[in-house]
Amino acid sequence: AKSAGRNTQRFFDPQMQAMVNARANLESDLRQAIHDGELQVYYQPVMNGSGTLMGAEALVRWRHPARGLVMPIEFIDLAEQTGLIVDLGHFVMRTACEQLALWAAHPSTQALTMSVNVSPRQFHNQGFVDEVLGIVAQTGANPARLKLELTENLLLGDVNETVNRMRQLKERGLGFSLDDFGVGYSSLAYLKRLPLDQLKIDRSFVSDVLSDVSDAVIVRTILALAQSLELEVVAEGVENSEQVDFLISNGCKRFQGFHFGRPVPIGEFERLHGFPSCR
Ligand code: C2E
Ligand code: CA
Ligand code: CA
Ligand code: CA
Repeated sequence: AKSAGRNTQRFFDPQMQAMVNARANLESDLRQAIHDGELQVYYQPVMNGSGTLMGAEALVRWRHPARGLVMPIEFIDLAEQTGLIVDLGHFVMRTACEQLALWAAHPSTQALTMSVNVSPRQFHNQGFVDEVLGIVAQTGANPARLKLELTENLLLGDVNETVNRMRQLKERGLGFSLDDFGVGYSSLAYLKRLPLDQLKIDRSFVSDVLSDVSDAVIVRTILALAQSLELEVVAEGVENSEQVDFLISNGCKRFQGFHFGRPVPIGEFERLHGFPSCR
């Protein structure tokens, strides 16, 4: 590739040129979307073994005027690479905390937790701790009900700094969850070092747990490990009751997946789960 002025790259391969252009368009569209209010937060239920709602995970969606509903797989990596994730993450955190504060106002919903995904760049961004604490203070959300979901990619950064930031937020009551557990750079040493409260078993292990012996062994091992480290476990991607039975019989107490509910907009979430405001 040779440079052709600021912010543009020219390639001799037309296909590659097309990809670069598409990416640049997506980036400027996304930048616009964040400021024009095209982002929306969906909520997926987290249940216990008796099917009682324990909380929700906030998942971002992009309502593009021409493209329709755009899923995070199409824009989260780009947001991470370009730094747009900082504004995007702020929007999701604020929206989820506003919701959490509303739930706290009613006895039947006040114990619900809210899980928010935090990307490595967002977490390591200067001022992340103050930003989160600021949002919690402004929205009136109970920090003890807020869980931040981190991925193992985060550990590519300075571990001391990571632990330090986590501690500052934990002192204020927030909890931490390690997302997609088992697929990344998991090291047991890190697991011991990070002040975590929860592990989420990646759905790739859960989906084949009944047919793939090694996945069954992995899931059992994660559950046993988490129990001895006194970490709560959420099984992700639970799609049928046979998976639930297997997970329950191996000690799992928290579930998330299409079997219990898909991510949906807030109005639908509250209606599906019989919230007081919907009765
Ligand atoms: P994740 O954090 O692992 O979120 C769970 C994903 O699994 C969601 O996809 C959810 O719709 C999907 N899922 C849940 N249950 C099932 C199931 O039973 N079967 C199947 N096949 N899928 C299930 P979604 O919403 O498309 O999000 C994909 C990823 O994008 C998330 O994975 C997360 O890594 C990222 N993401 C989403 N929202 C945000 C956000 O606000 N901030 C950041 N940094 N990342 C986000
Ligand atoms: Ca997550
Ligand atoms: Ca996950
Ligand atoms: Ca497998």
